[in-house]
Amino acid sequence: MALHFVKLGGGILLATLLIVASASDPSPLQDFCVADPTSPVVVNGLACKDPNLVRASDFFFSGLHLRANTTNSFGAGATPVTAAQIPALNTLGISMGRVDFAPQGLSPPHIHPRATEILIVLDGRIEAGFITSNPENRLVTKVLEKGDVFVFPEGLIHFQRNIGNGNAVAVAYFSNQNIGGIIFVANDVFGSNPAIPADVLAKAFQVDQNIISKIASKF
Ligand code: MN
Repeated sequence: MALHFVKLGGGILLATLLIVASASDPSPLQDFCVADPTSPVVVNGLACKDPNLVRASDFFFSGLHLRANTTNSFGAGATPVTAAQIPALNTLGISMGRVDFAPQGLSPPHIHPRATEILIVLDGRIEAGFITSNPENRLVTKVLEKGDVFVFPEGLIHFQRNIGNGNAVAVAYFSNQNIGGIIFVANDVFGSNPAIPADVLAKAFQVDQNIISKIASKF
């Protein structure tokens, strides 16, 4: 997006806005663009703070040594470290997070629409998998041990689950500074607000509407 000023007769300045579509996030055009969450300017991402006001704390996060809460219906929890936690990640196209799994814990099938994910298992035994797009819909899975690394390509549905006896922990890195837009397949489809009409889901899933209602009640 670029703002152009055109000088007209009589000294009138005409501002024109050019919006350029981009296939991926634009690369930063300065050393950094530390997010200013208080800015009223709306851009693709967050507006930049005055560089003179930037501090080391804008580049810093503490707490990834702590386990996330896994006492939920999935037995898994994540500690994201994105532009929301480190303002300096804004525009840099990278972020990370810690994922904790209780025994049998599951990170349910989900999508990161704008990020490839690369995961390293720090402890435990995790089964990871993703599904390729139509028409193959091939499930690609691998059992990961401590120190193993697995990649989930951008935009594909994927999951991880703890198949070991104890807790498991992994660290994920993402090729985007903002993975806030996680799409959890089951939650988004069955738990939208307002709900997708049950007959739409019944037809999509090729089941009766009462089965859709039963699943939707869980979300
Ligand atoms: Mn993921």
